[in-house]
Amino acid sequence: MKKKSKHKYCPVCGVQLLIKDTYCVKCGYSFEERKKKKKKIKWKNIIFIGLILLVFYFSLRYFNGQSIVPESFLDALDFSWGNKG
Ligand SMILES: [Zn+2]
Repeated sequence: MKKKSKHKYCPVCGVQLLIKDTYCVKCGYSFEERKKKKKKIKWKNIIFIGLILLVFYFSLRYFNGQSIVPESFLDALDFSWGNKG
């Protein structure tokens, strides 16, 4: 009786896996992903985080009793309006 070794090892954590396994049971390393190897920037996530930071920034200003729009920005607006009148 001969037993063929049907094992492979996870390149990340080194745990023994079956050849047919598509991902590591210990650390979740995916052998499928290595074939595709496509890096996609998730712009949705970046925009989402940016929006959260903006809301956080404005709410901080609001709770500090400051005007929500920065004074420097208001000054710039006043300046352009002042030119008209
Ligand atoms: Zn692993």
